[in-house]
Amino acid sequence: MVLLPPHQSKETGNPLLRLEKRFSTTGQARNRWRRVAQNLRWIGSRIYHRTAKRGLDMIASALLALLLSPILALLLLVYGVALSPRVGMNGRQFNEVEFEIKDRGPGKLLRALHLHRYAVLWNILCGDMSFIGPRAASPEDVSLRDSGTRYRLRVRPGLVCLWWVRKRVNIAFDPESNIDAEYVETQSVAGDLGIALRSVFSAMYGRQGDSVVSGRISVLGIKIDNLAMGEAVSEIMRRTDCLTPSKVSFVNANCANMAWRNQEYMRTLLGSDLTLPDGIGMKLAGRMLKQDIRENVNGTDLFPRLCEAMEAEGKSIFLYGGRPGVAERVCEWIAARYPKLKICGAQHGYMDKAEELQALERINDAKPDVLIVALGSPRQEIWIRDHIEQTGARVALGVGGLLDFYSGRIPRAPLWMREMGFEWVFRFIQEPTRLWKRYLIGNTMFMFRFLCHRTKGRTYRVKGRETKCVL
Ligand code: UDP
Repeated sequence: MVLLPPHQSKETGNPLLRLEKRFSTTGQARNRWRRVAQNLRWIGSRIYHRTAKRGLDMIASALLALLLSPILALLLLVYGVALSPRVGMNGRQFNEVEFEIKDRGPGKLLRALHLHRYAVLWNILCGDMSFIGPRAASPEDVSLRDSGTRYRLRVRPGLVCLWWVRKRVNIAFDPESNIDAEYVETQSVAGDLGIALRSVFSAMYGRQGDSVVSGRISVLGIKIDNLAMGEAVSEIMRRTDCLTPSKVSFVNANCANMAWRNQEYMRTLLGSDLTLPDGIGMKLAGRMLKQDIRENVNGTDLFPRLCEAMEAEGKSIFLYGGRPGVAERVCEWIAARYPKLKICGAQHGYMDKAEELQALERINDAKPDVLIVALGSPRQEIWIRDHIEQTGARVALGVGGLLDFYSGRIPRAPLWMREMGFEWVFRFIQEPTRLWKRYLIGNTMFMFRFLCHRTKGRTYRVKGRETKCVL
């Protein structure tokens, strides 16, 4: 998303008032001055940001270099430095400094502590780089024709960037160049401090998912399809053209806990055609298995992308579940953003048996390409398993509280919290009495079970049944 400076952003408000403001003489003069003032304020804020950022960079890098000088001197003497050519602000070339620590012997630990990167303090002190900014690109990476690169070269490259923070918590769904553009357009001193803070959490979650394991990863016996967000959307779209209907499930730490205790739910998940990894718990499980989960393919982030793909291919959707009125509000949300997407019905999820049968008939009459089922886990997965043939849908997705978010009934965690892997904290704060067990006890149990299951040679029991994980 590229934000415009204030003077270019779209005007809103009463249309008559807007016309009066635009065409009356006083209105025109007033508007001219307002525009000039806005532009000056915008330029002023950019100058302030640049100066303040450079000042902070210089002070922080000088202090850190002073504080770490014995370690830095030792590393320099023992390992020496390597120089890598990089393209900096306004296309100016410079050499990025790094301690030449090899990834073997004691060097392994030093690299794990990122000590090889500390030499970059020199680049920051010299003004080639900054603590926060887009990744420093090599000349081969840079193509001036690419608009993303142009954005990236407007600022100093950084040690930590927004893309890296998101990548580490598996939510960098957009291309790096888009996230760089977003950073450049919205940067501020407070924003940079926020990124610096979030990067501490990102660093703790472990390496970004580069050691990609495709195919299926077993987490507590549940076979997770290790797809990236774009691939999951493509796979669902492909399945809308298949004759046999497909069942799609999202699995987070809470689902894994439930499946551990509930054999029917476990079997249902194992019978899913597509099981996608949801939440930071899955990322951590993947890290512990040394098989990186590629992305956090949760239903809420997948939904708008799926709507976009469905609109492009002229597919239809039916929403089932949530409190009365909630699915209808999500229909309005879809209609406003994806006007060509065919919405063939909406039905709330609080019905008796007879009403449920009628709802099933309505869905079957509509025969949607995609059926969204939001009844909560494990009910929705079991419902899909039992009724998918009767619904006439090509693909059915069990999505939990998704409709509550898109209807606005429950606000979703802000992006900065998701960038720290704290979406669950936000949900817990919203409904502590309902969710304390799920998150406080559940998350601990998930990790505990995971560790026990690993130490027991990756076998565990589900209600007396011995199960071997296929890793
Ligand atoms: N729900 C429903 N019918 C029911 C019980 C629940 O439609 O009988 C809906 C509920 O309104 C909510 C969703 O199912 O929208 C479950 O949300 P929750 O956050 O509990 O699900 P999770 O995402 O945790 O699986």
